[in-house]
Amino acid sequence: MTKKLYIETVGCQMNMLDSELVVASLRREGYELTANKKEADAILLNTCSVRQHAEDKTYSELGRLKHAKAHNPHKVIGVLGCMAQKDQHLIFKRAPYVDLVVGPGQLHQVPQLIRQIVAGGGPRIEVSLDRTAGSNEQIKRSHESFDPLRDPAMRPTPYQAYVRIMIGCDKFCTYCIVPSVRGPEQSRPAADIVAEARQLAGEGCREITLLGQTVNSYRYRAGDVTTRLADLLAQLHDIDGIARLKFVTNYPKDMTDDLLRAVRDLPKVSPYLHVPAQSGSNRVLERMKRGYTVEEYRDMLQCTRETVPDAAVTSDFIVGFCGETEEDFQATCDLVRESRFKNSFIFKYSERPGTKGAARYPDDIPDDEKKRRNNELLGIQNAISHEDNQSQIGRQFEVLVEGPSKTSQKQGETGTVIQLTGRTHCDRIVVFEGTERQIGQLLPVTIYDASAFTLFGHVVTHEAGPELYELVASSK
Ligand code: SF4
Repeated sequence: MTKKLYIETVGCQMNMLDSELVVASLRREGYELTANKKEADAILLNTCSVRQHAEDKTYSELGRLKHAKAHNPHKVIGVLGCMAQKDQHLIFKRAPYVDLVVGPGQLHQVPQLIRQIVAGGGPRIEVSLDRTAGSNEQIKRSHESFDPLRDPAMRPTPYQAYVRIMIGCDKFCTYCIVPSVRGPEQSRPAADIVAEARQLAGEGCREITLLGQTVNSYRYRAGDVTTRLADLLAQLHDIDGIARLKFVTNYPKDMTDDLLRAVRDLPKVSPYLHVPAQSGSNRVLERMKRGYTVEEYRDMLQCTRETVPDAAVTSDFIVGFCGETEEDFQATCDLVRESRFKNSFIFKYSERPGTKGAARYPDDIPDDEKKRRNNELLGIQNAISHEDNQSQIGRQFEVLVEGPSKTSQKQGETGTVIQLTGRTHCDRIVVFEGTERQIGQLLPVTIYDASAFTLFGHVVTHEAGPELYELVASSK
């Protein structure tokens, strides 16, 4: 009999990829996905620890699952990911009916652990070593992941895939929990990444997004040969079938000239660069231990714009970090105003136990003030995004069609013409009318309107290719 698996994923693209891999491994054990928690034999929550709010939500969800477990004691309840690594046995204390706790470096063990639980072996926990609990090699080995297993059904779309090229982080920004929960920075062998990309291309994938906490720090040495991100992009560029290559998230100091030249010279590499600045104040950047000054960030941005003039650059900012004065915050506003980011992700600082920030500095900005700064910065960025998108009106873009738009899905649109969504090469979201048969294609779209977040367009039909004509002919 098939068993049913319900999995919920929060957090970053790394977590989405991890869930894809866990599902792939459990499908081999006879599990099928369900969207219904009630009928699930196993419920897995793949968690995030970057902000307190994400953890609170997971514990609330666990609270709700207490009744499900009481109703069906054979239901396996598991907590995976960063919060599992961070809280470990605390999860069993707070939710004693949880069966399984597995950190991100141990996810390959999920199938056998579930088997043991189902066989009556009781609760199971598998986490990686803490950053001080062994030699660097031991810690690295305990954080290895299991990337070759893929499940196309769990990808954002069949035409897009994430490929992990690095795990962990050694930068130790003082606010960030990632180095503790995802372990030391390790780059995957280039040959493995290329082989995985070839496999994905063979399955019909058109766009690959390379993932790493600091993806542009990628560096893999085999004998005398060192492969860096620019070299890896050149190797991936040769794969037939792959039309687009993206990479996130970049560390400002590692945005090297050779990488920018690769973005400029390799047509499949998207001119889209996510390079989090986090603050526009040197005082705050120093307390965050980001390793660069705002002047260096500006230089990096100028170099990026000179080398890749049409690049869409996006950023992250944290407002209300410990000790951030109004003057510091205004320096951040100035940086956002002058940098003309395509968009920015803005977060209120959330203290994370176990980080240097939590140990060294009091979280002294009241929540109301953090909210005010968040809204002010968001207002500045949104006005820029709006202006920037307005300037795209009248332009024609090649759009990779991802599927029905959110509106279309909500309204349950069916029929010959539906509203579709896709992205330009520089990662702008475009909404337009089309047919389901266009999903997965690269289509020319002309933009006729724009909001801060979305471009609205028409498919340039005379270039739409035989599929559209075939459809018109067959519908007569
Ligand atoms: S670079 Fe800094 S913010 Fe990014 S994952 Fe590493 S420690 Fe966290």
